Amino acid sequence: MTGHTMSVQLERDMVVLTPVCHEPEGALCRLRCDSGCPDYDSDHGHELVDRGYCNVEWLTDGGNAAEFHAGETEISLYDGMPITVQWNGEGYEWSKADRDA
Ligand SMILES: [Zn+2]
Ligand SMILES: [Zn+2]
Repeated sequence: MTGHTMSVQLERDMVVLTPVCHEPEGALCRLRCDSGCPDYDSDHGHELVDRGYCNVEWLTDGGNAAEFHAGETEISLYDGMPITVQWNGEGYEWSKADRDA
């Protein structure tokens, strides 16, 4: 899953990281359980439906996406950089994708 980039903006004195989704409707990152489970495994027994937006947008809900970074502890940031996103069982975390990936 590489259809995500990170927007890197400076707002006053704060760097704001916002994940941006480029995946089409029905992509894995946009699905939710039709029965309302917090579980998005495709094989957990319920039908998954498109929720109309990307789950990864949760990354910024009430916080900074930097808190959910799962890669190396020190990375350089640039606007529009590709990221990979994975579900860790409790939430999404992201890491910087290789430029060639
Ligand atoms: Zn997405
Ligand atoms: Zn379910």
